[in-house]
Amino acid sequence: MAQAQLTVDIDAITSNWRALDALTASHVATAAVVKADCYGLGAARIAPALAAAGARTFCVAQAEEGAVVRTALRAAAGAEAAGAGSAEPEILVFGGYAGGEAPLFREYALTPLLNSPGQLRHFRAEMSGAPCGIQLDTGMNRLGFEGLELAQTLMEIMALRPRLVMSHLACADEPANPMSALQLAAFNTMTLALPGIRRSLSATGGTLLGPLYHFDMVRPGVGLYGGAPYMQAKPVVRLSLPVIQVRDVLPGEIVGYGGTYVAERPRRIATLSAGYADGLLRSLSGAATLHAGDTPCPLVGRVSMDLITVDVTGLDEVPATMDILGPHQGVDTLAAAAGTIGYEILTALGSRYARVYKGA
Ligand SMILES: *Cc1c(COP(=O)(O)O)cnc(C)c1O
Repeated sequence: MAQAQLTVDIDAITSNWRALDALTASHVATAAVVKADCYGLGAARIAPALAAAGARTFCVAQAEEGAVVRTALRAAAGAEAAGAGSAEPEILVFGGYAGGEAPLFREYALTPLLNSPGQLRHFRAEMSGAPCGIQLDTGMNRLGFEGLELAQTLMEIMALRPRLVMSHLACADEPANPMSALQLAAFNTMTLALPGIRRSLSATGGTLLGPLYHFDMVRPGVGLYGGAPYMQAKPVVRLSLPVIQVRDVLPGEIVGYGGTYVAERPRRIATLSAGYADGLLRSLSGAATLHAGDTPCPLVGRVSMDLITVDVTGLDEVPATMDILGPHQGVDTLAAAAGTIGYEILTALGSRYARVYKGA
């Protein structure tokens, strides 16, 4: 095998979705966040499996992503004649409605989450009567109506009969951070002005903060794909890299660009086929661990574009492939080595891997 292989366990993803769904009361819906191509893992394969598991709402960042998800969901529903007749799942677009995109939103039955009075006006002018939601800014200062904007446009908002009002927590992955309670209070207060509309506040982190944060719908993303802060998640990805050369290095010799690694003793170095062009961040240079079966081996020297180098001196036999993600090392462990978060490790995974989908 010359190509690195990324294995995505779809059954683990649906099982994580069910487990998160089970954390909320039965009247609370659990959406599936499938933005950024399911955090880099492949929305066309994963979204239909989540729909089959029971997800009725999907969330994306941009309308174009929503079109891809809708196409995959329709293809899967078409393949299963039983899907016909039942209403299509809802696809929410976090980025809202910028104007001029009505054909795209209509063709793929996408629901924008309007984020500002300007978006509201574009939507009203171009898509009146179509479904929409409203995003409120409860303190993150990123997206959504602020309190004054809400007050000034309340009548226009209510006239659109929004299906959902939502907001997003800035610090939900830190349970002790008081910001979440402040945002919860702001959300409760602001939504008093929007009675009778379904409410949603929480992503994965907020879902874990407990029922006060659940409202009518939660929106987990990273937890589905096996990442923190959902520590009970089943691991989802395995990334196996082929060993393409092995060489013996003498004391004083260097390995890789810049000569940042100098062998102090005789070393055996394996060269593996994947690099920063494949999402193995350059900050993993000299910092990551690979596994040969159960045996950990350190990455030495710099990560280059297409290759990494690993000290395999401790192995009796060098295997054909080594794992950088898998049962011994999850996305968060690798992220810590790179000085980043699991989200970035996942979404950086490149397009050169042979992708294998297990399950579903
Ligand atoms: C990305 C995102 C989510 C999902 O967040 P996770 O932390 O991955 O669970 C939910 N809601 C909004 C608005 C988002 O942008």
